[in-house]
Amino acid sequence: MRVAVIGAGLTGLTCARLLGEYADVKVFESESAGGLLSSYYNSERGYWIEKFYHHCFRNDEHLIELIRDLRLSGKLVWRIARTGVAVDGRIYPLNTPFEILRYPYMRLMDKVRLARFTLRAKKRNFIDFDDVGVVEGIRDELGDELLNDFFLPLLKSKFGENYERVSYAWLLARVSIRSNRRYSGEELGYLKGGFQQLVERLAEGVDIAFSKAAIAKAGEKFAVMGERFDAVVYTAPLPALDRELRRAAGLPETKYQSSVCALIGAEEGITEDIYWINLKNPSIFGAIIEHTNFMDFEDYGEHVIYLASYSTPEGQLFNTSNDKLEKLYMKELERFGIGSESINWIRVFKARFSGPIYEKGYLRKITDYRTRVKGFYVAGMTSRHNYPERSMNGSIRSGIEVAKVVMEDFGLV
Ligand SMILES: Cc1cc2nc3c(=O)[nH]c(=O)nc-3n(C[C@H](O)[C@H](O)[C@H](O)COP(=O)(O)OP(=O)(O)OC[C@H]3O[C@@H](n4cnc5c(N)ncnc54)[C@H](O)[C@@H]3O)c2cc1C
Repeated sequence: MRVAVIGAGLTGLTCARLLGEYADVKVFESESAGGLLSSYYNSERGYWIEKFYHHCFRNDEHLIELIRDLRLSGKLVWRIARTGVAVDGRIYPLNTPFEILRYPYMRLMDKVRLARFTLRAKKRNFIDFDDVGVVEGIRDELGDELLNDFFLPLLKSKFGENYERVSYAWLLARVSIRSNRRYSGEELGYLKGGFQQLVERLAEGVDIAFSKAAIAKAGEKFAVMGERFDAVVYTAPLPALDRELRRAAGLPETKYQSSVCALIGAEEGITEDIYWINLKNPSIFGAIIEHTNFMDFEDYGEHVIYLASYSTPEGQLFNTSNDKLEKLYMKELERFGIGSESINWIRVFKARFSGPIYEKGYLRKITDYRTRVKGFYVAGMTSRHNYPERSMNGSIRSGIEVAKVVMEDFGLV
């Protein structure tokens, strides 16, 4: 039996690795293996770094198991990642109860309200709120002050221009899954030396053709780039799929957001010890992620910093040239004390389809692995295990699940 897997991201590679034990599998990839988890190699200093910041959580059981299977457990490290918020050029750490109490831009009663909301989120049935807008939901439940001063900057940083479309169900589900907090902050994991190692090991022995795949139905079979296959597992973004096939397969019109991320090597850092800084004031980026305040500076020999933002494929930010963006980023960095003389290099990475927008009614758009077209399967960011947050763990899990479904349908087990 021959199976074509479209996309060599974590979903596609995981699926191909499992299915490859029972079938002849070929993966088609239009860009780089690893997809959104692919990395940039700094040849001058000799290190790999993800194009888009990545970390993992203690409850990412499928990711942790895969790391073990690929004999990379020795590289997995867990650290407290400190966070903060920048207001008018000043950075406030927000980790310990004391730091939160001292933060001057939130009333005490709102801090208490927020703490209660977080604790209660776990017990609530978020599905009931799928058709409620996030702004409306927060305003009704927590009031205007918390909405404007706390949630809006976070939502804008996470969803860019799309924040108003998001459903309240997403926020409730999202708050309830974040539970690795310790007294001094949240514990996050990383593969020392970069997730590139995971991608390389996962891709070992997998047959990958680097080309943009077009899929056509050919009787009972499928034609992909001139070759015949009995089944196709599609793991690329839904908008990149041929409209006709998408309609025949009964797939939804899911809207995606885009990511725009600057990656910077610098002689100076922005703070001593804060990994993630959200920006309260409007800027062309919503968050500063200082990787070398999470992982060891010595591993890189310079400060490694991301400036992260989200847009849409049609959005102004996504369509601004990288040259222009680099200049804008350098100018903004001056507000944080980083002059152009301290910057060793800067690269801008963009992903046109970096995740679905969890808009109102999104729960009805989550895709099943089987589609209406026999032999055509869909897995990845729109699968059940990637809600409420698309993640490495969710994509690995959907790669495993879709492989099982294909094996079941074709009697391979
Ligand atoms: C900015 C950012 C930060 C993130 N941070 C984290 C994090 O900290 N922790 C975490 O767990 N997750 C994080 N994620 C999410 C994580 O990266 C993704 O959930 C996961 O990598 C998605 O894998 P995938 O295989 O489902 O999709 P993708 O990685 O999108 O893979 C799909 C692949 O299909 C290819 N493709 C598209 N069209 C075609 C075509 N026609 N033919 C052939 N190939 C095609 C693409 O090039 C791509 O390689 C982050 C994502 C982003 C964007």
